[in-house]
Amino acid sequence: MKNVKRISALLLALLLCLSLCACVGSQTPDISYHDEDFFAMDTVMSVRVYVDHDGAVSEELRQIVEDLDKELSASEKNSALSLLNASGQTDNAHIAELCRLGAELSARTDGALDLTLLPASRSWGFPDKGYRIPGEEELGELRAVVGMDRLHLTEGAVLLDEGTALDMGALAKGYAADLCRRQLEDRKLCGILSLGGNIQTVGDKPDGTDWVVGIQNPDDANAFAAVLTFKGSKAVVTSGDYQRYFTSGDRRYCHILDPKTLSPAQSGLRSVTVVADSGVLADGLSTGLFVLGMDRALELWRQSKDFEAIFIAADGSVTVTEGLADLVSQCEFTVAKRG
Ligand code: AMP
Ligand code: MG
Repeated sequence: MKNVKRISALLLALLLCLSLCACVGSQTPDISYHDEDFFAMDTVMSVRVYVDHDGAVSEELRQIVEDLDKELSASEKNSALSLLNASGQTDNAHIAELCRLGAELSARTDGALDLTLLPASRSWGFPDKGYRIPGEEELGELRAVVGMDRLHLTEGAVLLDEGTALDMGALAKGYAADLCRRQLEDRKLCGILSLGGNIQTVGDKPDGTDWVVGIQNPDDANAFAAVLTFKGSKAVVTSGDYQRYFTSGDRRYCHILDPKTLSPAQSGLRSVTVVADSGVLADGLSTGLFVLGMDRALELWRQSKDFEAIFIAADGSVTVTEGLADLVSQCEFTVAKRG
């Protein structure tokens, strides 16, 4: 079995280079910036804040993400999430909010997004990278503890039924990006964050040029399958089968599980990128749409007004929802229409 690290530093460097290249060299005082690189939520992260001369705001953003990581880690024994998973209850405000959003997105995606899959992920060995293929009987037994109906929200508190455990991996980075975006907005600053597979832009670039974000080629960590160009604040979040996986025989088993089978999703997609105003919405939907597959994902998009998406299928073909058609370049693609 072979395993692959979630995102290579090289990809990140390339991605940031592409995302930010128009600004490099723009060293006039009013468009200078501060970069902060760090490791959190099991991935490489990077924030760039414009006009943050002493780096204090970038440092605040890093602190926000690190604090959230400490609360939401499913592997850290004393995190608020692990304490919830052990005791069955918490009043942690971030966890309560994520559970509320998760329940909403679970309903929207017909259960494809499910925060209770931690025991199944553990069976497949994803959290600790001790990959294995569980038998049908083992997965069958897990059914008893998996399901969003085992998570209960009361006024400010979260309760779990016996044996149920939550994993915020599908939402945490998008939620962190939203907190950082608000922090920059409050300070009337702009910037770009790369939190693992999540890109968040805040405001317009001070030099008036577009943000340019590369969408990774699923087969080549050093290449882009498409390029997205836009202005303003957007979350651009990708879920893909190349981000964490193992292979056995000629099959690839990826870290995104289908709640119906408790096994790695096999929906014919290599990746889904969701573009939305909210980071946590884009994060939850990219995971959920990956499980649903392109046809059902497009059905959901046609009923929705709050996101656009880019799909890369197993054959490498790219499909772009019509709201992004004018923003995507450097690839051939089919446009999905609403009508
Ligand atoms: P993402 O990278 O945002 O697509 O989220 C994937 C992570 O969310 C995985 O590493 C698991 O921790 C968790 N996860 C896997 N499958 C699901 C699912 N169907 N719904 C919710 N969370 C999931
Ligand atoms: Mg996600």
